[in-house]
Amino acid sequence: MSKQIQAIRGMNDCLPSQTGVWQYLENGIRDLVASYGYQEIRMPVVESTDLFKRSIGEVTDIVEKEMYTFDDRNGDSLTLRPEGTASCVRAGNQHGLLYNQQQRLWYMGPMFRHERPQKGRYRQFHQFGVEVFGLNGPDIDAEVVLMTARLWQKLGMAEHVTLELNSLGSNQARENYKVALVEYLQARYDLLDEDSQKRLTSNPLRVLDSKNPDVQAAIVDAPSLLDHLDDESAEHFSGLCERLDQLGIQYRVNPRLVRGLDYYNRTVFEWVTSSLGAQGTVCAGGRYDGLVEHLGGKGTPGVGFAMGMERLVLMLEALELTDKVADSVDVYVTAMGDNAAVFAIQTAEQLRSALPTLRVLSHCGGGNFKKQMKRADASGAKWALLIGDDEASQQQVAVKYLREDKPQISMTVDALIPLLRTEVEK
Ligand code: ATP
Ligand code: MG
Repeated sequence: MSKQIQAIRGMNDCLPSQTGVWQYLENGIRDLVASYGYQEIRMPVVESTDLFKRSIGEVTDIVEKEMYTFDDRNGDSLTLRPEGTASCVRAGNQHGLLYNQQQRLWYMGPMFRHERPQKGRYRQFHQFGVEVFGLNGPDIDAEVVLMTARLWQKLGMAEHVTLELNSLGSNQARENYKVALVEYLQARYDLLDEDSQKRLTSNPLRVLDSKNPDVQAAIVDAPSLLDHLDDESAEHFSGLCERLDQLGIQYRVNPRLVRGLDYYNRTVFEWVTSSLGAQGTVCAGGRYDGLVEHLGGKGTPGVGFAMGMERLVLMLEALELTDKVADSVDVYVTAMGDNAAVFAIQTAEQLRSALPTLRVLSHCGGGNFKKQMKRADASGAKWALLIGDDEASQQQVAVKYLREDKPQISMTVDALIPLLRTEVEK
């Protein structure tokens, strides 16, 4: 036998037993964005490497260590997208969707980062993201936060996530802050790990973002970004906080929250959970007013977020919030005998026409009654329709309840339809 080929480490199959939860999440997200009037955008998964280098920043985890970059056959450097914002801005610029316009967009799809695979951290993972262009004020920041809060409500996980909020201020404010931060970090140089020592000169803000607990401990009393905000950013931030207060959205101001990508300014936020162990951030976002221009477009403000869908699926499972996930089948249609086979197919088709949301599995492959009932049971269906040649000649089906202690009954398909309709609409 030849050796089986395995999937790439960190790139997972989503098996039929798991896709139900995924579809539940995806459908919930589609309904959510529709209810806010956002439009979907779909971008390619491969882009020029320069796009990510320029937008995310050279001195970031993603660009330094995590990108899947390769030369294609023409020798062009291409990268599997590690996130969606850069591609979205690139597409918006390229197609003239941004300047002097307002866009409220969303996307969902696979992202690629060469990280160490572990629970909640994979090399191919999926993000749902939102990007809004052309709006300056804290009202839209509040809207995108509100939208995420509504999703937690919908999914039943609102008590298990908390919102962390910060402002990075203007570029100038950040430059001023960097001076204070570098001075502070230099005094603790020996307590930093090698990565942070390097970043102290190349990108000091990134040190605040370090995942190393020793580094985190060493910088607990680092100067606060919020003390260095410019007036306009401070006003924007208090405008956002005020709105969230009015809307009853709780948050914790975390002056150390800087995010792992260079393009943010002003508002940054993360939703974190303690239900997932180390990989606790389920959603992250913020404002990126300079990015459109930085990528060659005309100045247009932007704000958005991305959430890690694997982490949400893990949470739904860990918190046992999967009761609304649809079972795969409602009705299993058996057929014993040649006449029965035709009548069974007709019956199944008639049910599908009358009740489009009913899930009907038709038995295929023959076999005796016992074998067919075994399949019916394994399918998870609530009802089995037993159809033999007798039923076929009388144009009736015998309805057997598979999950309830109720007697079997025979009826016409016309009588069965309203019965199943009340069950499906329950
Ligand atoms: P982390 O701090 O966990 O590395 P990040 O700051 O790199 O996250 P972002 O680039 O902000 O993450 O991506 C937004 C969200 O996407 C994260 O909050 C997380 O939920 C999810 N995510 C990021 N990287 C991965 C990954 N490798 N596997 C699964 N989900 C991920
Ligand atoms: Mg990361």
